[in-house]
Amino acid sequence: MHSWIKPIANHGSDEGSHGSAPAQQGRVMTGGFGNQSQALQRCVEGFIRQYGHEPEWLSHAPGRVNLIGEHIDYNDGWVLPTAIDRRLAMAARVIDRPEILLHSEQQTHARIFSLEDAWQPKGDWTDYLIGVMKAFLDRGARPCGLELSLASDIPVGAGLSSSAALECSIASLMEELWEHRLDPVEKVILCQQVEHAFVGMPCGIMDQSIVTLAKKNHFLLLDCMDRSHQHIAVPSNFPTLLILDTKVKHALVEGAYARRRQECHACLEALGRSSWRGAEDMASTKLESLPYPARARHVISEMARTLQAVDCLQKGAWEALGDLLYQSHASLRNDFEVSCPELDWLVEALQSLGPSAGVWGGRMTGGGFGGCVVALVEPLQVERILGRLQSGFHAQFGHPPDGFVSTPASGCQIERPGPLHRLDHPDRFGRTPRRLSP
Ligand code: ADP
Ligand code: MG
Repeated sequence: MHSWIKPIANHGSDEGSHGSAPAQQGRVMTGGFGNQSQALQRCVEGFIRQYGHEPEWLSHAPGRVNLIGEHIDYNDGWVLPTAIDRRLAMAARVIDRPEILLHSEQQTHARIFSLEDAWQPKGDWTDYLIGVMKAFLDRGARPCGLELSLASDIPVGAGLSSSAALECSIASLMEELWEHRLDPVEKVILCQQVEHAFVGMPCGIMDQSIVTLAKKNHFLLLDCMDRSHQHIAVPSNFPTLLILDTKVKHALVEGAYARRRQECHACLEALGRSSWRGAEDMASTKLESLPYPARARHVISEMARTLQAVDCLQKGAWEALGDLLYQSHASLRNDFEVSCPELDWLVEALQSLGPSAGVWGGRMTGGGFGGCVVALVEPLQVERILGRLQSGFHAQFGHPPDGFVSTPASGCQIERPGPLHRLDHPDRFGRTPRRLSP
């Protein structure tokens, strides 16, 4: 490992210490498992192979998982996400040409963008990066040419927010290299606006908020109405977060997301209200008279569950917290209708294992129709639980889900490397990188 890649656990503004249970210390289950993201190392190696010299900067950002508060971010509700140990890393070096070179580990060649062109969306992964850079230029940042290379171990399109990790890590680089500082909330909003206007995805504020504001060993209680937030520390006996990726994405996702938003809005209009806040105590008879009573039932009940979950988290009441996760899943399946057979199978399997087998609870997380389940499990039982889930799921659906554990991780960070001591990576032309310092 390059000497300047410090273990993430020691970084930045993270606070507090946390007892690390055996299953959280990096035993291998499926690729990229453990507290140290492999992406940081691969990113630097990829940069050196691509450009033939060392990077000057390394920016990295986590994926995230939402523990509870689903589909209420756009309904003025609360959400309770945490950053995960999987990260996206971006290495950078300033060049004296007016060009941006973008390289990703899946590709053989870098994409080149001229700083003298007017940038338009291209409909691919570069939009997230170019969109953020354009937003910095629009705000008067001082541009310079850059070589960039990225690597990631956040599953793409699985609802763990690889897109916000991309946006926030490039935004951190822009702040530093294009000399335009933003306060964290401004940065969150800039990245969200890029995803809306440049990428074309009308996402809520959660993903960019947690990726930017996350603190190790904390959840983030985010009020999506006024964007205020509070870090919730996890007790030292916090169970392991087990994330199960079904690896399925059912069609109809885009249309269904927009439709759910419209249905919630139609209920508010019928109530003559502009927000769900303050509607929590609505009588069930009134609720039944709405155009989409089941959707309203989910919004109102999920708001209450999210606040109850914070209480459980602070008290260490894992069984009660787990029950809230199961209730949330049932509500998303029955009332909001955004689950799918693969997610339901996993949650039912978790529930039937139960606390005696080390499972406190679980639910689908993210937009739904595929993607991931988040579960709270006892550290010592993780491998047994995962093995049972993978073999049962495989028998049912023909492939195993991916599974990995995480601790509540830190948010996006940027580092300036010191000297590299190991330069034994020839680039793709067989050249050995230039040594910058002894
Ligand atoms: P999620 O954020 O849940 O992973 P999205 O659909 O919002 O899913 O974002 C996924 C998109 O982000 C990908 O289609 C790709 O354009 C971009 N992306 C994410 N990670 C990478 C990566 N490592 N390299 C290139 N593009 C990436
Ligand atoms: Mg996304």
